[in-house]
Order: sequence, then C-alpha cells, then structure tokens
Amino acid sequence: MDIRTFIRKDLRDMVNYQVQPVRGIKMDANESPFPMSRELRGEIAKWIQEEETLRFYPDTDCVELRRTIAETSGLSADQVLCGVGSDQIIDFLMKTFLEEGDTILVPEPSFSMYALSAKINHGKAVAFDLNAEDFSYPIDTILQLCRERKPKILFLCTPNNPTGSPLERCELERILEGVSCIVALDEAYGEFSGQNDLDLIETYPNLVSLRTFSKAFGLAGLRVGYALGSREMIQALDTVKAPYNLSTIAQITAAKVLRRPEYKEHIAWILRERDRMYEQLRQLEGKQGFYCYPSSANYFFMRSNVENLGALLLERGLLVRAYTGSLKSYIRASITTQEGNDLFLASLWEILEGIES
Ligand SMILES: *Cc1c(COP(=O)(O)O)cnc(C)c1O
Repeated sequence: MDIRTFIRKDLRDMVNYQVQPVRGIKMDANESPFPMSRELRGEIAKWIQEEETLRFYPDTDCVELRRTIAETSGLSADQVLCGVGSDQIIDFLMKTFLEEGDTILVPEPSFSMYALSAKINHGKAVAFDLNAEDFSYPIDTILQLCRERKPKILFLCTPNNPTGSPLERCELERILEGVSCIVALDEAYGEFSGQNDLDLIETYPNLVSLRTFSKAFGLAGLRVGYALGSREMIQALDTVKAPYNLSTIAQITAAKVLRRPEYKEHIAWILRERDRMYEQLRQLEGKQGFYCYPSSANYFFMRSNVENLGALLLERGLLVRAYTGSLKSYIRASITTQEGNDLFLASLWEILEGIES
C-alpha cells in the first residue's frame, strides 16, 4: 500500500520549512548571543529539584505567564494568548479565520511561514513586493490589493525578516484605516526597533500583534510566543488553541526571564553592536557590488555579486542565511557575540577585497 496516495493532493509536493544543519558560529537564525544568566539557571535547577507537579498537565491557560506578559506590555491578561512559538500563533490565526480557498496577503520577501501555514490550513497566500530600493511597505498597493482580493488576513512583519526594514506607525495607521480584514503584525523583532504601536489595539479590534521569546529574550530553545490583541481577538484565537500547548517548564522559565532586568541590557548591547557593525559594513559598500541595508532588527540583510558568499563565510566558520532563487545575491546575518561579529566583519572584508585566506 502506498500511503502517499492518502496525503491531501494539495500537500503531496509541498516542501516544508527548511532548516540547514548547524555548523560554525550561528548567525543564521537571529537567536540571542546571550545565554540565560547563571543565577536564573540556578533558580530553575532548584525549582526542578523540589518540583513534584510535572506528572500533572501544565496550566492550559498559562495564567501566570499571561499575567506577567500583560503587566510588562500594559495590557490585561485577557488580551494575551500564548503559543508554542509565535509559529503556533500564526497557525491559530489560519485555523480561526480561513475557510477553504480564502486568501491571505503577505509581503515579499518576508517570513516564509505565513504562506506555508496558510497552505497547510487550506488557504492561499497572495504576495505583494516590498519597495525595491529600501524594502519599505507599498501602502497604496496594499490598500488596493485588500480592496480587490479581499484577503481574510493581511500579514505585516516589522521590522521585516529578512530585510530589517520597519513599517512606520503612520503607515500602519493608514493601513488600519483603509482595510476591513484581520491585520497580523509580526513583531518578532519589535524589541530591537523601539517602536510600540500596542495602543492601536484599543482602536482596532482586528489588529493582532505576534511576539516571541525566541529572539530578544534568548529562549528560542524553549518555544514560547504570544499574541496581543483585543479581547474579542484573543477569545477568537482561543477557540482553536491546542490544550496544554506550553509545557510547565516553558511557562515558568519565560515568566522568570520577563521579570528580570538582564534582557534589557542585552537588547541595549545588541543595538550598540548593530551601530558598530553597520558603520564598518558601510565601508565595504561598492566592493564587488556589496551593499548592506540599514537594520531595525538584530540582523543585517546584504547584497553582493559574490556567488556563494554563504559558502565562503562557512569556510571561515560562520553560518549565515544564504538565499536562493530571486534572492540569490543576498545573505542575512544575525548580530552575535563580539568575537563572532568581528570574525564576520574581517571575513567579509577579506572576501570582498579578494584576499585568499
Ligand atoms: C523567528 C520568527 C518568528 C517565530 O518565532 P518563534 O520561535 O516561533 O516564536 C516569527 N516571525 C518572524 C518574522 C521570525 O523571524
């Protein structure tokens, strides 16, 4: 029996989210360069030593974690929903709002999960191109497409992955005024942009902000993300939430990280490193067609005429995100430890100057 014949026809040839093998210094997934503090690791170790409740299912409503998130974002706990990474929140959005054949609108280039998740959930993604010169959002085009294609959900990513470009508040407001669909604002890197548009949730019940502990909070391995929105929005998403989705350890650790001061210092350090690196990267501009886009996030998006730049960096021990297809002359590299960043800058300089290592 060939069980492939049972697979949904529209999924038989689908290529799922691809992850490359881990080698060298990780600059490929925008993770934090900071491990959890020794003190906090000690607290969690102690909790595990004394804990006797792991035989029970976790709190399905993540009450304590949601309360902590609400306090730090100035919202109330019923405006917060937790997921196994914000990837699961994206899935909840599709499951809640898409009927078979419904459309979502996504930026291009951007995070590939939107289109993948839509497809898995019987929907269809329509892409609009970001403006070619600086990857800013084409607001008029978005408004027009929303009128014509009537998408259920409009995805906006700010700062956008992989381009690092922001959606300005006035642009977001223009969009919210002009559309009548769900607006999912992916702010996975919001902590690095300093922009805060959460007050808009008050006025626009169709706005939902997607956040994560995977980037600025350094907990990618724990898989915790969340949605912030109106009470109606959170209630709607809660109808499809998988029960017990977050483990007890994930809930407790995420809440502890949020209550500690370190993460703010870590973000400040990354922003200083971003300035330092950008200054140096700009000096490489023009060498073999190199150009580095300004970044509002914890990574840089760069273009060059060097074929296989990703492979050349890997030879020097640096794992970056290299693209194929229409983005094949681009790479994206995360800001990592000072040592990693210095090696990256030196390696890039060598490669672009044509010096053999
Ligand atoms: C990393 C990332 C996420 C997902 O993060 P989770 O680890 O699933 O919380 C969501 N959106 C964008 C744009 C990302 O880069």
